[in-house]
Amino acid sequence: MIAPGAEIGEARSRPHDRSRAFAALAQHSAAMWPDWAARLLAETGIDPAYRPCGSLVPLREAGMVDSFAALGVEGEWLHGAALQARLPGACLPDGALFLPGDAQVSSLQLTHALMTSLDRKGVEIRENTRVTSLVRSGGGWRVFTESGETIDTDYVVLAAGWAATQLHPSAAEIYPVKGQAVMLDAGEESASWPLLRAGNVYLAAKPGGRLIVGASVEPGRSNGAVDPAVAQGMLQRAARYLPGVAQMNLLAHWAGVRPALPGLMPRAGLAEPGLVVALGAYRHGVMLAPALAEGLAALIDEGRLPDILAPFAPDTVNEGLSSAR
Ligand SMILES: Cc1cc2nc3c(=O)[nH]c(=O)nc-3n(C[C@H](O)[C@H](O)[C@H](O)COP(=O)(O)OP(=O)(O)OC[C@H]3O[C@@H](n4cnc5c(N)ncnc54)[C@H](O)[C@@H]3O)c2cc1C
Repeated sequence: MIAPGAEIGEARSRPHDRSRAFAALAQHSAAMWPDWAARLLAETGIDPAYRPCGSLVPLREAGMVDSFAALGVEGEWLHGAALQARLPGACLPDGALFLPGDAQVSSLQLTHALMTSLDRKGVEIRENTRVTSLVRSGGGWRVFTESGETIDTDYVVLAAGWAATQLHPSAAEIYPVKGQAVMLDAGEESASWPLLRAGNVYLAAKPGGRLIVGASVEPGRSNGAVDPAVAQGMLQRAARYLPGVAQMNLLAHWAGVRPALPGLMPRAGLAEPGLVVALGAYRHGVMLAPALAEGLAALIDEGRLPDILAPFAPDTVNEGLSSAR
């Protein structure tokens, strides 16, 4: 999902000193997505299935439209027939806020398109190659791999998710947050549905009639095991908002691990000369990908981190980094 509106609204309950900066970054990155997706399609012929479908957020309190507007998120209260036209069969008695700025991609198609784009640009991708340490060497870095190979380079971009902790002190505080999700067969008519974000459950209709119901939030867990009881709980919560879910066939159930930092804010920028970090994207890695990728590329090319990323730079967020070394 590329749902800055729903994310910003959800984050209202856990305000942070960088909440406003995060809202600006989320909206900036989301605005880059249509062009990014079109460029990927043109370059590779693979459609990442970017769809500006909007989000529905159940109305929880009067004045929600205004409180979202105060955060810079445009929304419209929908109820009755207008709501049913957007999401047929929805059970949202008080109506819902429709956030037209939210969108989504297909993560499977996106990954395929990105890998193809890199391949065509001549980028060498080494799969199943674990990096064991990063050591400063001359003006650059020496990268050691599990197989005993060493790679000398001017720049390292540390983007190893929750497992980055061992590789550099700037990643020391990262912790894993496991997330399980299920895929249902919702039929082709779901293709036009908006996202539904309702606190501890969301629905996201994907190409081919697939409906994703997600996602559990399991801090401290990094295993890939799936638990049928967790799936059952998510499906029950989803059925409260869309009762038809109870009749849909289960197609898949999987688990992934999100990388989180205290405060649930990302960290991006130069941690040391030649060492760029892209860490702690938590639930937002897809949404933030264009802004992080282009911002960090500009840092390497031009030596300057764009202003939009400045609040998330390692130096400003990781006091004690130098003493930890
Ligand atoms: C169920 C679920 C649903 C989600 N839905 C969304 C969504 O809708 N929208 C959104 O924006 N985000 C979503 N996310 C979050 C998103 O997936 C993460 O934010 C994103 O994957 C983080 O990207 P990353 O590159 O930092 O880390 P990762 O995706 O974890 O990638 C890190 C990579 O580094 C590799 N690695 C680790 N250690 C080493 C090492 N020592 N040597 C070499 N390689 C190493 C790993 O194998 C992995 O390939 C979801 C996550 C989950 C689990």
